[in-house]
Amino acid sequence: VFKALEFADKNSEVEYKENTVIHNPQIIRDVVKISGCRFKIVPRPDQELETEENKDAVPAPPAPPEALKPRPPVVCVMGHVDHGKTTLLDALRDTSVVDQEFGGITQHIGAFEVQLASGDKVTFLDTPGHAAFTSMRSRGAHATDIVVLVVAADDGVMEQTVESIRMAREANVPILVAINKIDKPGVNIERTMRALSTHGIICEAVGGDVQAIPVSALKKTNLDTLVEALTLQAQLMDLKADPGGYVEGVVIEAQMDARTGKQATVLVQRGTLRRGSIIVAGNGWAKVRVLNSAEGRLVQEAPPSTPVSVLGWRELPSAGDQVLEVSSEKRANEVMRYRSSQRMRDKQVSDLSAISRAQAAHRAAYRARLARKRALGRYKLRPDGPREKMLQRDTHPTLSVLVKGDVDGSVEAILDILETYDEHERVRLDLVHFGVGAVTPNDLEIAEMFKAVIYAFNVDCPTPLLLDAKKKNIPIKTHNIIYRLVDDVKEEISARIPKRL
Ligand code: GDP
Repeated sequence: VFKALEFADKNSEVEYKENTVIHNPQIIRDVVKISGCRFKIVPRPDQELETEENKDAVPAPPAPPEALKPRPPVVCVMGHVDHGKTTLLDALRDTSVVDQEFGGITQHIGAFEVQLASGDKVTFLDTPGHAAFTSMRSRGAHATDIVVLVVAADDGVMEQTVESIRMAREANVPILVAINKIDKPGVNIERTMRALSTHGIICEAVGGDVQAIPVSALKKTNLDTLVEALTLQAQLMDLKADPGGYVEGVVIEAQMDARTGKQATVLVQRGTLRRGSIIVAGNGWAKVRVLNSAEGRLVQEAPPSTPVSVLGWRELPSAGDQVLEVSSEKRANEVMRYRSSQRMRDKQVSDLSAISRAQAAHRAAYRARLARKRALGRYKLRPDGPREKMLQRDTHPTLSVLVKGDVDGSVEAILDILETYDEHERVRLDLVHFGVGAVTPNDLEIAEMFKAVIYAFNVDCPTPLLLDAKKKNIPIKTHNIIYRLVDDVKEEISARIPKRL
């Protein structure tokens, strides 16, 4: 099949007989899409084409409103380097009042919860900065509800502050500002707020609707107020999820642990994860054996917005993978088989598109050769025949040139002007090669063979190439004004006019 299609031309038709076994119709469809050939898929009468939908695990439809219960916000800390993101996360983790008596050792599992005396909780993603935010988003997993933008009051708004604002905006995630390092002498909170205003973050204190909490991550000042502000923001956003039904979530982290084996942190987004649940995520699946909180405490279940470290993976998933609960181990295996067949297919498709890319490059090169031949004809530059012979016989003074330009238009303009000099009675102008793009080693080779001057118009000339050209004594002349280039050519022509004795 692939051989046939590989060589099938755009308009050819590949026939398939009724008894042809088509293992994966999707492959053929993709091949057809890439190669552009017309192609009929004829299913065998006794064989139903497999539909894809019933093979993969997919999220359940949205829950009915009455099933929705409030859930804690999931918060990502962003901001400029050294403004105190890590210190803030450490401080928050320490003040976490969840089961203080337990006295467990906090584990870095990628996220943790903070609980207020009121019982309100906030979940923090533990990796500060862009990486966590984007890696979660890159796969379409919208894990973050609120961005805490950390701005050091002594430093103010900096490059990554602005970048963080942009990213949060693009993701449509509301921002809450933590103005940090207020313990430092002489810091100016108002100035920081004014600077934020110029980037569209108008804090409440200056008449806007963005909460800004002055804190000191180092001295643990005002952290409760910050968490309260986050729960308030969450209420405004009316964050809810269905704690019943099949679990959905996202993998925050996944790794091989020397002690416990395959471990992955799951942030539950819907449903309630329990021991014994069977989940699939990316290329991995698990029958949940152990659930651990960030404090290293065994937990029985994890409702929405709870991050838990999960043991029981047969194959590890990757960070960012979507987690879906399935009905049975058999179903999990089915999904894994389906996904692995999809990966094979994707690989075959990308191999095939590499082939068609190579073919396209080949065709382009051929077209270029044709164009060159035609151009040589048009400029009547040299008689046909072996080069050596020609070079020996040719005693007429000649200026050989090779022209490279940034765009078709400029190259053509230059060639048009050079054509008028072609008729110079005593010096022949010989265009040996031309093209669009940077000067390449291939150009050097051609120039060396014909002892040509290379004219580069508005294009790059890599330094190693310049050095090579110098070694081989090939002049490369770069210009960015056409008439200067033409003047240069004229000078070269004059220099080659035989002196009268
Ligand atoms: P990150 O790069 O944003 O994660 O910043 P860090 O948390 O690593 O903090 C950078 C530096 O600022 C460290 O030396 C911290 O001790 C210091 N720092 C962080 N928060 C505060 C604060 O509230 N007050 C003061 N004085 N220093 C702080």
